[in-house]
Amino acid sequence: MLRQKVEEGFRVLTLEAEVDADVIEFIKKYQALASHLYWSKRLGIEPSETVLSKIDNEIKSYWKWHVIDEDDPMYLFKGIEKTPRPYSTIIRLPLVDALHERKGAFIHDGKLVLRLNKKVEVPIPKRALDWLNKRFAENPDKKTVRVFERGGKLVAQIILHKKNVVALPNNPLLVVVDLNSSHGIVVHYWDGGLIKTEKYKPPNRSAAWHNVKHLMKLRDVLYNQGCITQQQINKYSAIIRETLSGSMKSWIQQTVDKIVRRVRRIAKRHGKEPLVMIDVPDDESLRGTSLQRTLLSFAKYFENILSWYGIYFEEARLYSTVCPRCGEKLDLKMKTRNLRLMTCKKCGFEEERDKVPLYWALNKLLALKGEAF
Ligand SMILES: [Zn+2]
Repeated sequence: MLRQKVEEGFRVLTLEAEVDADVIEFIKKYQALASHLYWSKRLGIEPSETVLSKIDNEIKSYWKWHVIDEDDPMYLFKGIEKTPRPYSTIIRLPLVDALHERKGAFIHDGKLVLRLNKKVEVPIPKRALDWLNKRFAENPDKKTVRVFERGGKLVAQIILHKKNVVALPNNPLLVVVDLNSSHGIVVHYWDGGLIKTEKYKPPNRSAAWHNVKHLMKLRDVLYNQGCITQQQINKYSAIIRETLSGSMKSWIQQTVDKIVRRVRRIAKRHGKEPLVMIDVPDDESLRGTSLQRTLLSFAKYFENILSWYGIYFEEARLYSTVCPRCGEKLDLKMKTRNLRLMTCKKCGFEEERDKVPLYWALNKLLALKGEAF
């Protein structure tokens, strides 16, 4: 039997726009009505008649069914009674619907057109539109738009969804992604022999920290002079958070995109299907650190993009300090600036520390094939 599985990938484009006050009001009213339904469902009580009739009269049908109709495939409150704590995303209650001309939303002339209480047009920047057109050309299965309010602005997220049935390739190009390396992220490409190894280091945060310190200082000076209110201070905090998270997020996205492009290109050049083996970060020394959080979100985003393209991947623990031949703990034999040579005193295995996970990946591949063919 061939080893098969379903992979699901998402791509999201987030747009923000200043809109008329009545549009924001409409979204807030919708959220209030929908959260009444949410809490009724959660607490197991009947929703109020007034709310139901308001939803019936004031909300267009295509924004309605997924908060009312339990059989709707997009129903937002599925299994909500059993959820221990409400998710903030559910409480935020996006308006969800297909990206469709006769329904809630569609794209026309470089703009996202939404039908809320009235027609709202959200301009899509040229680069985002190019990106979106490329993703549409990759044939997503489902397109939806979520609409909500944040900081007095309208936020619209175009969400593309793709489902792929993938099978373990018989004779793959093996790609080993080691997220536990002290060098950051190490990627090996293997086709009967090592093609190449690439290393990626998460960005140094010092530049971002420098800006953050400057912002904090400005904020304190302004506050001490009585120039800003507590509410404005909160805005500074939001900017500071954004400065720190934004840089890491875009590094993750750019690096993942780069690696996935490379995987597809090298596989094509070698006339093979790729198989990606990912060593998920789980090193003791990293637990609870910001580096671990970065590596975990890297793994999550990476697996999402692989799923989008239907590239077969497996998570596996790929050790760098355990002998891949006999399981004995490896000893460090020699260390220079760029090289740490590991050796096994039991069976004599010897290899550079960064390459040891590759042997574990090859073992794992053999095991997978043993199960599959
Ligand atoms: Zn050994």
